[in-house]
Amino acid sequence: MALVAATLDHVGALDGAKNAESEHRMASVQHDASGGIVFLAIDKKSLDAIGVWPWPRELHAQVVTALADLGATEILLDIDLSTASDSRSDTILVDALQKQGGVVMLPAFKQAGGVHAEEAAETTNLPLAMFRTHSWLVSVNVTPDADGRVRRYPFGQLIADEDVPSAASTLSGVFGTPSTSFEVNFGLRQDSVSRYSVVDLLEGRIPPEKIAGRSVVVGAHAIELGDRFSVPVHGILSGPMLHILAAETLAAGIAPVRLAAWPFLALIAVIAVGAALSPLGGRLRWLIGLYALLAAASEAGGHVLFARTALELPSAIMILALAVTSLVMMARELDLRWWLVRLATTQSTNMHRVLRRIITDSSDAIVVVDEKGTVIEMSRRARELFEIDGQERRLAETVPPEMAAQAQAAMVAFRNGDVEDPGPHELAFRRGEDTVRIEYTVTPSRLQRASRTQHALDDVVVGCVTARDVTLTRAQEARLDHMARFDELTGAMNRAEFLARLRSSLETGTGHAVFALNLHRFKTVNATLGRQVGDDLLRAFVKRIELTDPHLAEVARLGGDTFALFCAEADRLTAGLMGEGLITSLSQPYRLGGSSARTGIRLGIAIQADAGDTAERLLVQAELALDEARQTAGDGSRFFDAQSSERHARLRNLERALWSSIQNDEMFLVYQPQIRLAGMTVIGAEALVRWRHPEFGMVSPGEFIELAEGNGFIEELGRWVLERACRDALRWPAGTTVAVNVSPLQFQRSDVEHDVTQALEASGLDPQRLHVEITESMFVSGAPELIGTLERLRSLGPSLALDDFGSGFASFGYLSSLPLDKIKLDRMFMQDVAEGGANAAIVRSVRMLTAELGLTLICEGIETADERDVIRAIGVDQGQGYLFGKPMPQDDFVALFATDVTRDAS
Ligand code: C2E
Ligand code: CA
Ligand code: CA
Repeated sequence: MALVAATLDHVGALDGAKNAESEHRMASVQHDASGGIVFLAIDKKSLDAIGVWPWPRELHAQVVTALADLGATEILLDIDLSTASDSRSDTILVDALQKQGGVVMLPAFKQAGGVHAEEAAETTNLPLAMFRTHSWLVSVNVTPDADGRVRRYPFGQLIADEDVPSAASTLSGVFGTPSTSFEVNFGLRQDSVSRYSVVDLLEGRIPPEKIAGRSVVVGAHAIELGDRFSVPVHGILSGPMLHILAAETLAAGIAPVRLAAWPFLALIAVIAVGAALSPLGGRLRWLIGLYALLAAASEAGGHVLFARTALELPSAIMILALAVTSLVMMARELDLRWWLVRLATTQSTNMHRVLRRIITDSSDAIVVVDEKGTVIEMSRRARELFEIDGQERRLAETVPPEMAAQAQAAMVAFRNGDVEDPGPHELAFRRGEDTVRIEYTVTPSRLQRASRTQHALDDVVVGCVTARDVTLTRAQEARLDHMARFDELTGAMNRAEFLARLRSSLETGTGHAVFALNLHRFKTVNATLGRQVGDDLLRAFVKRIELTDPHLAEVARLGGDTFALFCAEADRLTAGLMGEGLITSLSQPYRLGGSSARTGIRLGIAIQADAGDTAERLLVQAELALDEARQTAGDGSRFFDAQSSERHARLRNLERALWSSIQNDEMFLVYQPQIRLAGMTVIGAEALVRWRHPEFGMVSPGEFIELAEGNGFIEELGRWVLERACRDALRWPAGTTVAVNVSPLQFQRSDVEHDVTQALEASGLDPQRLHVEITESMFVSGAPELIGTLERLRSLGPSLALDDFGSGFASFGYLSSLPLDKIKLDRMFMQDVAEGGANAAIVRSVRMLTAELGLTLICEGIETADERDVIRAIGVDQGQGYLFGKPMPQDDFVALFATDVTRDAS
């Protein structure tokens, strides 16, 4: 600002201010004239008295003479004498001038050109030479400033190549460089200058002492004469008066001297920078106070300085610079504040927006509420959760009452500084048809809000209620819990849950019976019929257990096909009866999809012997009993006895020993003859595998086939049986057949087609002589690829026989569509066939069916001649059973052909 002010000053832009300041100062510091110069005015009064203008020159001569007589030391005759008048008058004046010799000064001046071009040249206006000879020449030119006011007065002027001192210089006796000027101090009062009218002088009315020893300026003062200047303070000043005031200024040495502004501006700048850097610098009011002080000091100082020395301090410029600086500073400060306010508002708006978004879009339901229970904010999820359409304003109408109460309590507790249960709380409420379960927390917090009534901040407590729909989560948890305790497929308990219940039941009573149940050969069912049918069977099985005996309603599924039950009050007798009831009920056929299925049941029973029996021990005992039951043919149950454990161990041993049984040459085949009933001739034999275990002795296939199927050894065993049977049959009479049992698991796990080809090629047996026996359960699933396999197998030459027909998953419907040659009716149908029971009818219908389909029918398990007769009477093609021959070593079988089998049998 100082720099700007200095620059403006330099180019004169601040002259107006400086002039105004100067005028103000001159007006306020008044001076009296010294009195050494007297103004003899050609005023109106004089003009009126004389009557003509211009005056005849002898009148001027009179004035000069009169003044000189009164003792005037110098006379400035400020009259235009540049032209001649009548020569008499001129001569009189010349004489008067000459007489007074050197007292009179005459004016010379340059006149600026007029508006017209021919007058443009400056003209020098000098008194005529005759007047000049006896007088001094003084310049009376003054140059007004641009605003038309005269402020400066020259020391002298170059007129006609001569340095002519100015009137004021000459009158005051103070001379300076001619071409320079000084400032007139208009603080000099006009009325302190002695002034007399010319007419008074001529009529002798001026006392001599007023003139003696003084300089006199004679000149026009009348308005009519037009010699006037515009000046500061006084306004209009006549020419002579201007000369007098200028002379008085010089004489008194009070010409105002304007000091250059820049050093002061620089000083202010230094002070301002210092102040800004000081610790108070940041405080606007301090700085502005300082500036005001500086301004006042410069104003007062300027006044005092001017009064004392006529030096003019550029106070106006300094004050201007300070004022503008202050204004700029204030403006900046205001601007800064405005920005700060804007910034704060923007930040809070943004924050609010972000929070609002967070609340609105939160996956949780959020309701913000104040202490009065008015809802302030609510998330979209909350609207959905609590089904709010409009603009609910009350929490109590928005959320379930229990929740609203909890929120209210939490806020009250918070305000009182009490500890409140932070939750999460859980509650369920009805929403339309559904029950919704939510988990929620209430978080109170303290906010400050501008008070409406007072100029202060109110403490406000708000509660943020965050709720989450946990309906699904809880359902899931319940499901998981259920899954952890119950079998998903059948809904039965799992082992852990069963044990837990048994344990707690054992605590309250004695006399428990624990049952372990097994579906006989379920693995096979599952593998052949497909999982779906297997699953259906398991479900149906469990359902039936539950319906069988109310005391045994709680079923546990221990493993794939093993189940457990317990009864809290049962002795050995009742447990046995219960077991029988279970077996009877569970072996009834099951309806699965389109077919009806039967399944064998094995049952193990453990009875609580003393109060020390644990749940675990009882269950293990029941399972051991079950293991034992499984080793017996047919449906059966076993009570646990101590030896059972040994049998269990035996089973594990057998399973392991299987793998080395073939290398160790422990496996061998026996053959059971098959008879054509019409004619009673041996047509072939069924190969049945036997295992001579070095430790356990003879092991039944009923025991180890299942083990082999379970551990996969069946593949290797199956291949071995096929090859051995084919090779053995080579020793039999031509046309006899050998029937080989192929486990469904072989079909599933290995390439039976390849195995059969291999066996036939290795032995060289006529493929027509090989019969492959497969259990009927294989077909129920009706998998097209299985049918394909069987067809390819049959196209190799062997016949296909359906084994154990009617024992399990009987459905006659599919028989026609399968690539079969022979049906082997299960031996259970032989039970009461001799007495002409229901089974005879079944055999009869099966006979009709197979005849219809062009299939050979063979009946198994024929033990008596009666049975054979009934069967033969029905027209069954073939028979197999102990009656005709037990499974026998190869040599014995071959020997048969030497004797007459038919005769033996009959
Ligand atoms: P299966 O195929 O039904 O074999 C017939 C079973 O009935 C044989 O028992 C046989 O000894 C028995 N049996 C024969 N006639 C009579 C009779 O008049 N009355 C009674 N009560 N039973 C009779 P085995 O040899 O113990 O075989 C049991 C099962 O083991 C067989 O039943 C068969 O499914 C399986 N099996 C035997 N050898 C093999 C084999 O080499 N491979 C495969 N995969 N399974 C075999
Ligand atoms: Ca068989
Ligand atoms: Ca059979």
